[in-house]
Amino acid sequence: MIDFRSDTVTKPSKAMRDIMYNAPVGDDVYGDDESVNQLEAYACERFEFSEALFCSSGTQANLLALMAHCERGDEYICGQSAHNYKFEGGGAAVLGSIQPQPIENEADGTLCFNKIAAAIKPDDNHFANTRLLSLENTIGGKVLALDYLAAARKFVNQHSLSLHLDGARAFNAAADLNVDITAITQHFDSVSICLSKGLGAPVGSLLLGSKALISKARRWRKVLGGGMRQAGMLAAAGQYALEHNVKRLSDDHANARYLAQQLSTLNGFNVNMKNTTNMVYASCEPNINIQQLAANLKAQGILFSPSKQLRLVTHLDITKADIDTFIKALAAHI
Ligand SMILES: *Cc1c(COP(=O)(O)O)cnc(C)c1O
Repeated sequence: MIDFRSDTVTKPSKAMRDIMYNAPVGDDVYGDDESVNQLEAYACERFEFSEALFCSSGTQANLLALMAHCERGDEYICGQSAHNYKFEGGGAAVLGSIQPQPIENEADGTLCFNKIAAAIKPDDNHFANTRLLSLENTIGGKVLALDYLAAARKFVNQHSLSLHLDGARAFNAAADLNVDITAITQHFDSVSICLSKGLGAPVGSLLLGSKALISKARRWRKVLGGGMRQAGMLAAAGQYALEHNVKRLSDDHANARYLAQQLSTLNGFNVNMKNTTNMVYASCEPNINIQQLAANLKAQGILFSPSKQLRLVTHLDITKADIDTFIKALAAHI
């Protein structure tokens, strides 16, 4: 299958599976799973944070961050289209008793500081306590500029807020900017990183933060049923992903640019040619029956999510030749 639905569909390679097979394991709830401990120590060094926590998913890592920063009755400010507001089942409110305050994202994915400032609640019993600003990078494939992140740090300092990054795809942002990941993560009090998207691990995310913050998050992880036992087999895959699959993310970005170019040569698709890391967005003209097209291509082993607003995602299981195959198949069916 050639699968453009998401970068979550990547399958562990033979080398990754070998590492998993041979990973030393213990019981991580007792703190003695060697491979989990090794991954968390590696992550502390790699991201320059004092503590790291291996989590089952990005959703869990974000929820733990929110619950570690905020108490019941507190509030976090985030984008209207933020994953940890829109796509995580309302977990912060449902499970954390934390109120979200979404702000409309600007076209470039940022949040306007004036709008954030206007949404911060006064210290008054009528209001929730505004505690945290949560940003996302990349967001919809878009990269937030480094000077915006620096400005966000300054802003939260002025307003006594903490700053969280949903960095599910932060490595894609770093690859696009051609900087080390720490140029991005240094501005934040906590960062979540997905190992199971473009990095190609089967399962897992990291949460990074201070010792005090991660100690709270570790407790909530157990409460939420996220205390995993012989998790080292998964952690080993995560560490392999960090060690081997970061550099090649720029290949995915080059493939996305190639896919955008090729798609724009076909009739019926209006392709957004703006740089969006490993995602290509296109709208379909009314004459395209996108459901039928998706069904036809599925029969040929090509998967994409059918919608009038297409999102096609490149990742380590998509080659340039796969893109040619896809474009040829599309051309034959439109
Ligand atoms: C995928 C994603 C997550 C978390 O996803 P899981 O499927 O729970 O691992 C969080 N934030 C963003 C921006 C994402 O794209």
